[in-house]
Amino acid sequence: MIADWTEFANCLGLDPDVFFPEPGDDQTFAKSICAQCDVRAECLAHAITHDEVHGIWGGLSGRERARIRRDRWPSRAKVVDVDAEWHGTVAGYTNRRCRCDDCKTAYSAYLQVYRSTPEYKKRRREQVKRWRARRAA
Ligand code: SF4
Ligand SMILES: [Zn+2]
Repeated sequence: MIADWTEFANCLGLDPDVFFPEPGDDQTFAKSICAQCDVRAECLAHAITHDEVHGIWGGLSGRERARIRRDRWPSRAKVVDVDAEWHGTVAGYTNRRCRCDDCKTAYSAYLQVYRSTPEYKKRRREQVKRWRARRAA
């Protein structure tokens, strides 16, 4: 394990926006840079242990990293009660990690509203700023 792995990051100096694609954006360019990065393992381990949910780290998207975390604690991913009344709620998707159609529909409706808010846009700008500071160090 390299202690200061950021020094060897293949993405140093690149536009952070590439590594923080909007949902639905193409991620292949960012991932191709990670694929040739010497510290990919360190980067991925960092993202997983620090619960980085946004952006491409170590060649994986937030969703792909979440899957790795779920695999580590599979009990959290299990949906036991298919008739439970929380299906079709945002909490069903986030807290219970249910991916049934009703929970997906509820969550995407929520996301659509959330992404149009100034708060979301501001948070994203701050994420990119933090990222830029970390990678520039
Ligand atoms: S693996 Fe991490 S450090 Fe390497 S290029 Fe990708 S994001 Fe940058
Ligand atoms: Zn559900």
